[in-house]
Amino acid sequence: MNQPVSSEENPFQAMQARLDLAAARLGLEPNVIAILRTCEREITISMPVVMDDGSVNVFEGYRVQHSTSRGPAKGGIRYAPNVNRDEVRALAAWMTWKCAVVNVPFGGGKGGVICDPFKLSKGELERVTRRYVSGIMDLLGPDRDVPAPDMGTDGQVMAWFMDTYSMHQRSYLPAVVTGKPISLGGSLGRIEATGRGVMLVTREALKHLGMKAKDCTAAVQGAGNVGMISALQLATLGVKIVAISDMHGGIHNPKGLDLEAVKAHLQKHKRLDGFEGASKISNGDLLELPVDILVPAATENVITSRNAGNIKAKIITEGANGPCTANADKILDQKGIFVIPDILANAGGVTVSYFEWVQDRQMFFWTQEEVEQRMERIMVDSFASVVDMARRFQVSNRIAAYMLGVNRVAETTRQRGIYA
Ligand code: GLU
Repeated sequence: MNQPVSSEENPFQAMQARLDLAAARLGLEPNVIAILRTCEREITISMPVVMDDGSVNVFEGYRVQHSTSRGPAKGGIRYAPNVNRDEVRALAAWMTWKCAVVNVPFGGGKGGVICDPFKLSKGELERVTRRYVSGIMDLLGPDRDVPAPDMGTDGQVMAWFMDTYSMHQRSYLPAVVTGKPISLGGSLGRIEATGRGVMLVTREALKHLGMKAKDCTAAVQGAGNVGMISALQLATLGVKIVAISDMHGGIHNPKGLDLEAVKAHLQKHKRLDGFEGASKISNGDLLELPVDILVPAATENVITSRNAGNIKAKIITEGANGPCTANADKILDQKGIFVIPDILANAGGVTVSYFEWVQDRQMFFWTQEEVEQRMERIMVDSFASVVDMARRFQVSNRIAAYMLGVNRVAETTRQRGIYA
């Protein structure tokens, strides 16, 4: 099994470190803290899959439910070569806090399969997905655990997911998974939701700090669903996007990138490399550019105690889950950087997932405008609640967001009591 390289980079420990700080400020009872520090349920499965050449490959897969105190477990499925159990545990717990911060009635879960989705054929990807669903079937259900896309998975994977589950249950059950194609009960606005949420909270932060979007530059790490759409959405505010990257490296133009051309290049070549009208920049250097807004929207642990001191942005909007380590938090705080933490900044995705689940259960579908308006209200209100908490308790935005989320989960945990 893959393991994180150092304890600073162990995301589950990073989650627990922030939880402990928030719990101390909230004065939570030790019993409740002990419950919230651990995951309710975990499953590890070995999945033999027949590859196109006839050989059999045994993949390892996980599903972790951190909490179902406030509702069914909710959270994506990650297909990546370096997925590991502590990462999935952390991602599951972050989902619990995220759903609680935006106050949608879900707990938190996450899944992962160790594989390289870019190296699998479409048929292999489908067989991996169906085998994974059948392996974790007992945990799933619209009232139990509702997965969604994450790194390396998309609407097609969710369609296979919904089909496998529905076939086994002998029923049409689209609400078992979100992020599906529209024709299978997906919600309008779900694809853009995370990037749009990133834009909305950044817009609120700019207002809060008295900064004008039109005078600002931004660098975005990641050009997937979250990174690319965040860049496009920020540009609609008038922010100049000067750099963007993918896993192979980035492109930089201090005069601003032509994002439509970048998007077209990416669609054609599947990578940013070779884009004309910009110079190359490494993923590490992109983070240290002299920009106003930095959006890490790729993966965990990219801002650590090693490079946090070199960050020049005034605002960091965490499109990714866990891009900053707990040690980096302290340095960013000292520098006075306004961090919009992941469990708030990227919550637009799960908010629209919640809308998708509601629509599927009612078989009554909303317009794009309805989805966008409801999502905007939730993101704007949640931003205001986090900033208010930070001001009242004199804590960072991150600890304020944890306090808001953790307190809501603590409340239902207490109310439900301990079943013994
Ligand atoms: N994977 C996304 C996240 O990390 C979305 C989860 C969901 O919609 O359930 O927030």
